[in-house]
This record gives sequence, structure tokens and C-alpha cells, in this order.
Amino acid sequence: MRTEQASPVRLQDYRPPDWLVETVDLDVSLDPKATRVRARLVLKPNPKAAAPAPLVLDGDGLDLRSLKLDGAVLAPELYVADPDRLTIAQPPQRPFRLEIETVLDPSANTRLMGLYRSGATYCTQCEAEGFRRITYFPDRPDVMAVYTTRVEADQADAPVLLANGNMVASGQVPGTARHFATWHDPFPKPCYLFALVGGKLGCVEDRFRTMSGREVELRIFVEPGKEDRCAYAMDALKRAMRWDEEVFGREYDLDTFMIVAVSDFNMGAMENKGLNVFNDKYVLASPATATDADFAGIEAVIAHEYFHNWTGNRITCRDWFQLCLKEGLTVFRDQEFSADQRSRPVERISDVRGLRAHQFVEDAGPLAHPVRPTLYHEINNFYTTTVYEKGAEVVRMLKTLLGPDQFRQGMDLYFARHDGEAATVEQFVQCFADAAGRSLDQFMLWYSQAGTPEVVVNGTYQAATRSYRLEVAQTVPPTPGQPAKEPMVIPLALGLVGRDGSDLALKLADGRRIERGIIPVTKSAEAFDFAELDEAPVPSLNRGFSAPIRLIANLGADDLRFLAAHDNDPFNRWQAVQMLATRLLVDNVAALRAGGTARNDPGFLAALGAIVADPQLEPAFVAQALTPPGEADIAREIGRDIDPDAIFNARSELRAAIGAHLATELSDRYQRLGDNAPYRPDAAGSGRRALRNVCLDLLVAAQHGGAVALAARQYQGADNMTDRMAALAILSLRDVPQRADVLADFYARYAHDPLIVDKWLALQAAIPEPATLDRVKALTVHAAFSFANPNRVRALIGSFTMANQTQFNRADGGGYGFLVDTVLALDPKNPQVAARLLSALKSWRVLEPSRRALAQAALARVAAAPALSRDVSDIAARALGDGKP
Ligand SMILES: [Zn+2]
Repeated sequence: MRTEQASPVRLQDYRPPDWLVETVDLDVSLDPKATRVRARLVLKPNPKAAAPAPLVLDGDGLDLRSLKLDGAVLAPELYVADPDRLTIAQPPQRPFRLEIETVLDPSANTRLMGLYRSGATYCTQCEAEGFRRITYFPDRPDVMAVYTTRVEADQADAPVLLANGNMVASGQVPGTARHFATWHDPFPKPCYLFALVGGKLGCVEDRFRTMSGREVELRIFVEPGKEDRCAYAMDALKRAMRWDEEVFGREYDLDTFMIVAVSDFNMGAMENKGLNVFNDKYVLASPATATDADFAGIEAVIAHEYFHNWTGNRITCRDWFQLCLKEGLTVFRDQEFSADQRSRPVERISDVRGLRAHQFVEDAGPLAHPVRPTLYHEINNFYTTTVYEKGAEVVRMLKTLLGPDQFRQGMDLYFARHDGEAATVEQFVQCFADAAGRSLDQFMLWYSQAGTPEVVVNGTYQAATRSYRLEVAQTVPPTPGQPAKEPMVIPLALGLVGRDGSDLALKLADGRRIERGIIPVTKSAEAFDFAELDEAPVPSLNRGFSAPIRLIANLGADDLRFLAAHDNDPFNRWQAVQMLATRLLVDNVAALRAGGTARNDPGFLAALGAIVADPQLEPAFVAQALTPPGEADIAREIGRDIDPDAIFNARSELRAAIGAHLATELSDRYQRLGDNAPYRPDAAGSGRRALRNVCLDLLVAAQHGGAVALAARQYQGADNMTDRMAALAILSLRDVPQRADVLADFYARYAHDPLIVDKWLALQAAIPEPATLDRVKALTVHAAFSFANPNRVRALIGSFTMANQTQFNRADGGGYGFLVDTVLALDPKNPQVAARLLSALKSWRVLEPSRRALAQAALARVAAAPALSRDVSDIAARALGDGKP
């Protein structure tokens, strides 16, 4: 266990490494309790370093067995080694060879960082700082070396031995029951991209011919017996490889590309060079075991990790402050891939829903930080939605500002200029500035200023001058460490919609041209005057969510209903419906809290009815329109003094009102969408199922006659997991007699399959009833649950804290108490997962006073606990913080 580190790491303190590593030769002899690692490093002084420097190598809990320099045992007085560091005070100031032998116990590694065992499989996870748990090394991304890895193991225990790159040798170890494989990766890489795997694994193989005609072997390794669940992942991989060639001109570079699925994994997946290691949740799928959302998630994560080969691996990050350089960019790339494979508007709506529900919430609370932070205590806590999803929005804005051609030129320049390097955000953005021949200095504020910009827009039409004035004012709210902000560059995509629903010509009175419908807002307040307009337009603002902002516009209910019916931009059609719903929900929350009743908005219901009845609209879009803003969205709109019960009740009543008002249309749509076609996890099929299941959900919410029985029939009769899970979710969230039956039936059917049991755990944790806390506590000792497996923990505890706002935020504080007990129990075993769980309290400051006091006391209990990990103490301290980062 690492102890709390007093001094934070700061971006401004960056300096180049004193020592570089040219080659790394690893010889890893796998054993469940005593794995021997021999590392031979060829080190040389960095010519960029200021002065002769000692050699300081990072370690984490290491057990050093021998140390040699240029082949000779190093005398003990010439070095200092403890579990967390190896220092040679006066190394030769020339290239030399260092041989380090350490012994590890992978079976005891519960943190799942470094070398560990998932079931009987040996695997590694080295990002961000896991390699130092394998051997002493300058564990920082700007030290890039060429790796050769020999892996040896008992033939019977681990018939499959894998590492990065191409296999160059393999064979038996004479006179033993052991065998070995040697892998060589010709591309210099930082140590966080190192990986090895050993185990009994089944394999699915395929091939891919790259655009220059090279043949690449594709191999997916899974637990034996699960090979038949890899087809979709393999197909997604091949589509991603082709797409990256066509859209970004990027070709794969090794002879083989491997994916290994393991069941114990802290994150989603890891882009180790040539050997991606995946949480099996993002590989294994068949129609009978996975939902449409699972298939879409697999497609996105397979693509994401593959795309890292260029954005992350070939060009990596100079330091961990630049994490968004690889993550934000690669999320943008996987979002674009999914948009091209599926429906672009629906993908955009779904990405923005996620951004608002998670990133906007993070940005508004004590854990807010810039896309590129300037300080951290524990880097594991910065794998956040701000770095990933807001980071992707920033790249998207670059494309929006520059247009597709200049954006592609900028990307090409980035690949040409920085291939093989560890780069910075400045270097990335400079490529676009050079390609476009314009300054992007002000744009850099998106990387340095935290907080969601608030943009107030007022439009006024003057018939006498046939002109329309749009006044735009922006502010960025204060965030920890950043009390005052400067105005941002906001690419505001705009349409002026005429009475007949068509877009009117955008002509600025001062003669400036508007390119691609984008107004570049750059000042804290400015006005845009549009000329030659014969009628008062309705403005359609921030089309396609062109900037990640909170928009406040003087649009009346009539304007929003008009946009919901006519906007040419599908995103803003959906957005108009959401704004109507949000206004109604905010009013109703206030009414319910004051002891009154929720009101109906016939105009809103009519707008929804028109969308449901429109045969031109794709079903997935209609499903999105019928789904009201989430509880987090409503809370964020209200902003303070949050009562989760009132929000939940207002939202439930709205769903019931929609279901009752549109019952005929929804029943009709439900029946017509039921087809007997074979299940396909494609966009069209999943869109139809999404709409059909939303219809069913709203009918049950409205207690429409026979709807519960319909859901029970769908549960029993479904021929795919999507429809079965949807029916189960609908029934499980309601106090109906069928609930206990279907939950028991589901477990009986799928008890043998942990990924499906996760769905069962998650649903029960989300039941919005007071008995749920006891149910969740009881499930923590169920045979299907294990605190050692992050997927189980996320399914049960994560679902309770994130997807069940009324019960997690119980008025008696029981939910918080349970979270704190869980975090403290888990912290010594897996601090990364414990810290992630604790971040569920990040919005405690906006709660109503009594819950706020309970949440604060819960956080204080964590902060005061002895022997906390750096991960958990950092989250607790910042969540409680005084506004400093
Ligand atoms: Zn990534």
C-alpha cells in the first residue's frame, strides 16, 4: 500500500527525463505465487538533461533479488533500493546495461495493476503507473524504448503466451514441463503500453488486408468455450481498421493484432501495442446474451482501442497531464466511427445525453478540473469524463471551426510531424493552426479553463429594417482553483428558421461571411446583425451541439414547439422537446416540494404526439424524443437545494402523463414494430427495438390496461436479450406481483453467466423503493457477487449510487453510510475502484440542507479514516475541498 503523498505533481514542474532507455529485454518466468522478472535495460544519459544526474527508477511494492551493471553485480553501497524506488547515485555518464531481477506474487495482486491473475489467466495492466509494479523503471510516458519479451510458463497451466509485437521464437524449456515464447515489438513505446498474457485461452482468428496490401492476422482470445461470442467483436475490429484507413489514412503496422478478454479488469479495455487487453464485457456478445446497448458498446470500445494505435501509441503523451491528447482525440474518433456505422443524429443525441449527465455534473461540482489538468495527487483519478468526453468535444470543435478539409490536413500534419514522439496538447493544436494558417491561442482556453460555459442568447427582429439582431453573452462559472475566467471561442452553429420551416439565408449586415452556418463567438458579449429578412425567424442555436455549453435563449414555448416540429437539424428538434420537458419538470419539482401537484403541458404532449406520428422519423430518434431528461439533467437545471425525491416523482408523473396521453399511438407503435425478422444488432434493428421498448415502458408507467401483462409476455417470449432485459427492467422497477417471478426466473436462467448476472444485480440496485438498500446489502453476500471483481462491484454498488438517486440519497443517510462502509472495506484491496465509487458523492454540495449535511459527514468519515490509499484520500479531500484544486 502506498502512503498518502503530501506533494502534488504539477504540470509546470515538468522537465525531460535525465535518463533514456533504448531497449528493454524482459524475461518473465510465470508462477502463481513467485513470478521471476529479469529486466535488462540499456540506459543512456539524455542529451537534453541539464547536468550529470543520478539514476532514479520507480518501483511499487517490488522485491529486488539482484542488480548488475554491465554484467557485474553492483556493490550494495553503490545503490539504494526500497520497494518503491531504486537509486544509483553515481551511474556512469555513458550508455550502460542494467540487469534487475525482481520476484512478484501475481495471485496476491488485488489492485489489478501490474501483473495479476484474472481467474487462472496471467495478465498485465500498466496504465498509468503499473509497470513499476513489475520492475524498476523510469515509469513516465516520455521514456520510449524497444521491447523484447520472453514469457515462460508451465505448458499445462498456460499453453498460450503473448506479449506486444510479433512472435520471434517459441519452444520447450528442455528437461522441464515449461515452454516459452519470445515477442519483439519494433516500435518504441512507453512502458504503460507494455503487456503480457499467459493462460488457457480459446482463440478466434481472422485476417485483414491493409490498404497497402499487407496481411494482418487478427486473433481474439477468450476463456475456452466462449469462442462463439466473439464474432461481433471481430467484425467491429475489421470495420474499424477499414474506417481508419478511409477516414484518417491510418494503416495498421504489425503482422498481428491481438485482443484478450479477461473477466477481472479495472477499466473497459487497454490499448497495449498489438495486444489489447479487454474487460470481457466489451468482447463477448451473442443475441441471447447481450443487449443492443452491449453490442454498440463493444463496437465503440473495440474501435477506440484499435484507433489508439495511432492516437496514443505511435504518438503518445509527453506526461500524464496530456492524457486528453490521446483520450479526447480517440473518443472523438470512436464517436465518429459509430456515427458512420449507425445513425449520425441518434449517436450525437446519445453522446450529448451522456456528456450532460456525467461531464456537466462533474464540471459543476468540487471535482471539476480542466480537460488538461495542471496538478494531480493521483493520476488514476483523472481518467474522467472531462478528460475523455469533454476532451472529445474540444477536438470536435476544432473540426467545426476549421471545416472537414483543414481538420484532416491538421491531423495529417500531426501524424507526419510527431510520429514516434511523446507530444503535448500545444503541439497537437499547433498542427491545426499551421494547416489553417490561423491562431488558435484563444481556443487553447478549452484545455485550461474548467467549467461549462453559460451562453445567453437574445434575438430580436425589426420589421422596419428587415433585420434580426442576435446578442450573445458568455460566462464561465468559477471552479476549484479558477475563480475568474476569460471568454472562450465558441463555434455556435446557427439556423434562422422561417415560417415554412426552411432555413433562411444567413447574411450579416456588416458583410462578414458565415461559413458552414457557424458563428465564431469570441467575446464576453457581442451582437450579430442579420440582414434582408422578410419575416421574424425562429433561431435554431448550437445545432448538432456544436459547442459543449449551457445555452439560455429567449425562446418561448411556441418557438420550441415550432422547432420540435420543423427544425432541419435533427439534434435541435430533439433538443426543443427536451427544453419543453425540462421547463415543465423544473416547475413541477417546485410545485411538488411546495405540497402542490404537477401540472400538464398540453402543448408539449401535442409536440411529442406529432413526432410519434411522423413516419419520416427513424424509430431510434423517436425513442430519444420520448425519453425525458434524466434526473441528473433536471437537478443540474435546478442547480441548488436539490430534493432527489421530488425530481424522481416529477419525472415519473411526466412519463405517466406521456403514456396516458399517447396510449393509443404507443400501443399501435408497439404492435407494428414487433416483427418476426431474425435478430440483428444493427442500427435499424436496434432502433426499432428501442422505440418499441420505450412505448412499452411509457404504457406501464401510465398503468395502461394490460401493459404489465404485455411486459410479462414480452419477457417470456423474447428471442433476444434486448427485449427480455427491457421487459425485465420495466417490471423490476415497479412494485407489481410479477416482479419477484421474473427476477427469480432471470437468475435461474443465467446464473452460470457472470456478465448476465451483472444485469440482474444492476436492476435490483436501481429499484426506487426504500427496501432496496437492504436488498443491495443482502446481495453483497450472494454467491453471484464478489468484491474482488470490478464488474460485479460496478453492477451492484455503482448502479445503486449512480442509477438510484432516491435510495442512494435516502433522507436518513443510509445510502451514504453504505457507500462509505463499502469504500473503506474495498480501499485496501482495490483503491482505484474504491475511489471511483466514492466519486458518486461529487454533487453533495447542491443537495437540500439535511441531505447535504449527511453527505458531508459521510465524506468526512472517509477523510478521517486511517491508512487510506492516495486514490481515495484524494477524492475525499477534493470533494470536501475549499475551492482549491
Ligand atoms: Zn482510450
